[in-house]
Amino acid sequence: MTVRTRFAPSPTGFLHIGGARTALYNWLYAKRHGGTFLLRVEDTDADRSTTESMQIILDGLRWLGLEWDEGPGVGGPCGPYFQSERVGIYDRYLAKLEAAGLVYEDEGAIRFRVPDKLITVSDLVCGEVSTNLKEAGSRRYDADLKREVEANPDIVIKRPNGGYIFHFVNVVDDIEMAITHVIRGEDHLSNTPKHLALFEAFGVTPPQFAHIPLNLNPSGTKMSKRDQGALIHEYQDAGFLPSGVNNYMALLGWSAKDDQEIFTMEELKSRFDLTGVNSSNSKFDFDKCRWVNGEHLKRLTTEEFEQLAGPFLAKAGIAPEDPRVPTALGLARDRVQTLGEVPAIIGTIFAGSVTYDEASVAKVKEKADLAAVIEALITSLEAASDWSIDGIKAAVTSGAESLGVKMGTLMLPCRVATMGSTSGADLVPVLVLLGKEETVKRLRGFGGIIA
Ligand code: GLU
Repeated sequence: MTVRTRFAPSPTGFLHIGGARTALYNWLYAKRHGGTFLLRVEDTDADRSTTESMQIILDGLRWLGLEWDEGPGVGGPCGPYFQSERVGIYDRYLAKLEAAGLVYEDEGAIRFRVPDKLITVSDLVCGEVSTNLKEAGSRRYDADLKREVEANPDIVIKRPNGGYIFHFVNVVDDIEMAITHVIRGEDHLSNTPKHLALFEAFGVTPPQFAHIPLNLNPSGTKMSKRDQGALIHEYQDAGFLPSGVNNYMALLGWSAKDDQEIFTMEELKSRFDLTGVNSSNSKFDFDKCRWVNGEHLKRLTTEEFEQLAGPFLAKAGIAPEDPRVPTALGLARDRVQTLGEVPAIIGTIFAGSVTYDEASVAKVKEKADLAAVIEALITSLEAASDWSIDGIKAAVTSGAESLGVKMGTLMLPCRVATMGSTSGADLVPVLVLLGKEETVKRLRGFGGIIA
């Protein structure tokens, strides 16, 4: 059997981390088993589906590298891959149910007669869950009356306006697209008995189901688009790496059952399996996600890092082709967890003037004789003949000696005067890049500010 999995988003919003994780698991499962990964767009809800949303979802999947073997833009033997274009197929399947006497009209809608028997979902993650749809659906809670009332357990599969309902088209397409494994969020587990009843009505062996636990926000409730880290395009904008985001999403609900946490895509492809999917909900942790991404950044080659950081530099007004950029990037590399943080670390090197952080200035002002310290720095650095790391260190040391203090005493004031802040990249390499003239100019400017 060739494994066929699918991601079946409804294009009604952004690509959310929960949806992207579902796509990833389907993609990994197909790759791991030499199978096919399909993308099917569940756009039967015309009022809520938009082309903008579709584009965002496609762009997000492509950015993550979760390319589909069949689907929009790629084609394939089971197309079209938009449900809105498959109405003829649904009509054909409805006719089968009609011929078997399994549907009837009810106030303009079409209902499917659910069987009166126990239906057992044998889920690869959640285990066995049994339901009798007839019994379970024959009463419903009425919010207005605040009590249970009688209900028709038969499932509406076609609305009075002619539109087909999710359960029906979802099953028809899984049959038509020969899906072997349905990997989706646990919120669909309760729908699965209905889906199994439809598979049986069509006389088709159902695919295997694997419902993956929900991804909760740090406060333990369902993650919403307003939660930090919820939307995939925001990762792209913030300078995460697709491999870092995929790695973190893989860990959100799956583990390799050893201590390994950092995985390349190739490793995930060879190690991911449904047996490692947790049965309890996961909790989203943005700091962990950033850490994972930072580990992926560390594993890039220098050339890759430079190339990927380029657009983030350009956006911050730093020309990526500036000859100082490679060295500056080397100073930033170990300090960032996303590419978007790079300009803040090294931006001062390329800026026309220093932006002073008030708290940093206040901190160095606490020191006695700050003016004398800056004066000594100006004198010694101006006299430096060798503008290298060693040459600058020697000059600062001689400035310190002239004041009878240790070299360390001069470093923080020098950093704040030339870089604007107590934090940031290593000072001396930054001074090398700034050059002697600019360094002395910045020290003089700072001397003016504190005077
Ligand atoms: N369109 C459904 C959703 O977005 C897909 C359900 C499924 O994967 O079967 O939740």
